[in-house]
Amino acid sequence: DQSVGGGGFSGGGFGDAFSDIFGDIFGGGGRSRVRKGADLQYNLELTLEDAVSGTTVKIRVPTLKHCTTCSGSGAKPGTSAETCSTCGGHGQVRMQQGFFSVQQTCPNCRGKGTTISDPCNTCHGAGRVKEHKSLSVEVPAGVDNGDRIRLSGEGEAGDASAPSGDLFVQIHVKPHPIFERDNADLYCEVPISIVTAALGGELEVPSLEGRLNLKIPAGTQTHKQFRMRGKGVKPVRGGPIGDLICRIVVETPVKLSAEQKQLLEQFAQSMDKAGKKHSPNENSWIDSMKKFFEDMKS
Ligand SMILES: [Zn+2]
Ligand SMILES: [Zn+2]
Repeated sequence: DQSVGGGGFSGGGFGDAFSDIFGDIFGGGGRSRVRKGADLQYNLELTLEDAVSGTTVKIRVPTLKHCTTCSGSGAKPGTSAETCSTCGGHGQVRMQQGFFSVQQTCPNCRGKGTTISDPCNTCHGAGRVKEHKSLSVEVPAGVDNGDRIRLSGEGEAGDASAPSGDLFVQIHVKPHPIFERDNADLYCEVPISIVTAALGGELEVPSLEGRLNLKIPAGTQTHKQFRMRGKGVKPVRGGPIGDLICRIVVETPVKLSAEQKQLLEQFAQSMDKAGKKHSPNENSWIDSMKKFFEDMKS
């Protein structure tokens, strides 16, 4: 139910539709006699896993139903709606304006053709009451943020002879702690130690289908991306399954012990003896910085 998605109706949706209908009956003003029901929007929150694999979600939606107290007439039981005396039940009146005869919505019954002198206490004369109904929404596999599922005729009830509106279920995918989605591709950041980065190794990375092995070649740098083909998302509108892209971030070790610091200093001395070849990026950067300052002097 609600706990599944944590979704709900957006502020503008139901409230406006509901008050519109009452506005019409109680003096909103000149609309046509028969109204189609209003469209509704339901905001459905999904986890990335559910959006990718598809799911069925039960939602509760507000709706308007015929009032059982007055059987939908809007009049207090024992009384009935009367034919409007101003328009004789036509809902329209002819007004003489100079030479012209103009047809207008009847100001007395607002186009309904009937008036209620003793309104029903349950529905206050509307003939309909607010209720909730449960609906099962089939969410197809591969939906993404912003996709809308249309449930035809599940919106607000219309006037007696008019069709109901539609219900639009708007998908909101919650942020995932590991994966970021970009259309069919999934991205995942993988921190590795300087040792694994330098020597290479094999590690486990997560995918939505389970664990995968990722081989890290020796000499891997930060921001290097490894693409796992076909481990992404199958898009809801068709097309090839995307990839899982692992972005490497080399982690600088912190909170070192005295022994570890000493080992790193020994390591640094060994690096210095060997010249520039172990840190090509750092050394080319230092060279271009030197050149920059020399150019400035001359
Ligand atoms: Zn009623
Ligand atoms: Zn009238």
